[in-house]
Amino acid sequence: MIDFELTENQIAVQEMARDLAEKVIQPTIQEYDRKQEANPAILPAMGKANLLGFCIPEKYGGLGMDYISLGLASEELEYVDTSARVILSVHIGLFSLPLLTWGSEEQKEKYLIPAAKGEKIATFGLTEPAAGTDAVGIQTTAVKDGDHFIMNGEKMWISLANIADYFLVFAWTDLEKKKNRDHSGLSAFIVERGYDGLTTGTIKGKLGVRAGNTGFLSFQDVKVPKENLVYKEGQGFKLAMFCLDQGRFTVAAGSCGLIRACRDASVKYANERKTFGVTIGEHQLVKQMIANMEAGYEFSRNLCFKAGWLKNQGKRSTRETSLAKWIACREAEKAAADAVQVFGAYGFSDEYPVERYFRNSKGASIYEGTREIHTLVQADYALGKRIDKELERDLPPVAQ
Ligand SMILES: Cc1cc2nc3c(=O)[nH]c(=O)nc-3n(C[C@H](O)[C@H](O)[C@H](O)COP(=O)(O)OP(=O)(O)OC[C@H]3O[C@@H](n4cnc5c(N)ncnc54)[C@H](O)[C@@H]3O)c2cc1C
Repeated sequence: MIDFELTENQIAVQEMARDLAEKVIQPTIQEYDRKQEANPAILPAMGKANLLGFCIPEKYGGLGMDYISLGLASEELEYVDTSARVILSVHIGLFSLPLLTWGSEEQKEKYLIPAAKGEKIATFGLTEPAAGTDAVGIQTTAVKDGDHFIMNGEKMWISLANIADYFLVFAWTDLEKKKNRDHSGLSAFIVERGYDGLTTGTIKGKLGVRAGNTGFLSFQDVKVPKENLVYKEGQGFKLAMFCLDQGRFTVAAGSCGLIRACRDASVKYANERKTFGVTIGEHQLVKQMIANMEAGYEFSRNLCFKAGWLKNQGKRSTRETSLAKWIACREAEKAAADAVQVFGAYGFSDEYPVERYFRNSKGASIYEGTREIHTLVQADYALGKRIDKELERDLPPVAQ
């Protein structure tokens, strides 16, 4: 049964996110993007609006909303700025949903509930200075020592690095397997800000997501309690891939918001700006750019709905999520480049938002699986070289 009607709950989440984006993020976005700083008012406002845990079950401090709602909120936030959607991606997609699925009851009590209530902020640390796509190339280690693991290493390009309270960190626990690049030697840990030996910092000079915090983590003999190992030793790679299945969904849905923002700004400008005695929207080549934005938005959004629907059923959606992420990010890049074009010289200035959309659109084709990796993944599925097995655990199904 196919149903494109949104439910009352989904509309409520969509409106909640839209309202917050318009009232809290929009008024200061140009200022913070220029300053290259995160507006400190945004996280508390998101927490207050229940946007940091709405698709976590009520039992664990959330509102029990479905995954299509997560997509809709991602779209509304990124309609105003990518940095706000990134918060949902790391806090919910890459931390809370994986913990809900793979964490122990004790971990859910201790970490998931405060995260879902917005009392604590969480993020995900996989990438390192010398390893991004090649996750098995990471160097961070966590060596067992009595009741603890001793963690050493560096993480780079971590969203909210200098803000988050909790970090889901991936490290080698089996050093022999590290030598052989055998990913069954990787494990996942929850690390808390405040643990001795953990330092964090911010990266400046980014192309985009300038109003969002991105930074690094450094671990020097950090003692991580053994209870903070997520699921089992040696399951870190599998967990990282699971996290990305959820994070990518929010990136895809967020990109739909970016495409829509490009379309709306371009339509408004094309109906106002005149050349040769007519508004530029009368020129066929301008119309073509706007038509492409419209098409890109619609088909990207439908791919997101399909992935979200599968998640709601508790079915694996690795293939569909990857496709939605690849296509929506590609269309967002195209829409943003065309939006700058529609605006002519004014698109080249940060007086108008399309310049920011253009810079922000680039990151999403890099993080959570680069454009190239999703292209290869899709080819491999089609060629029968990649077949998903049922996962030992998947997102709990949720009613819409
Ligand atoms: C704004 C931002 C936020 C981020 N947030 C986080 C975060 O919160 N947590 C986190 O862990 N990471 C985060 N990242 C890191 C991101 O996930 C990595 O940048 C990404 O995985 C790519 O890795 P890399 O930059 O090391 O590029 P590389 O892996 O070095 O790739 C370089 C180029 O080579 C291509 N390439 C690599 N391997 C192949 C291959 N096998 N076939 C074809 N092409 C290939 C890539 O597609 C790319 O074009 C963030 C990055 C950015 C920009």
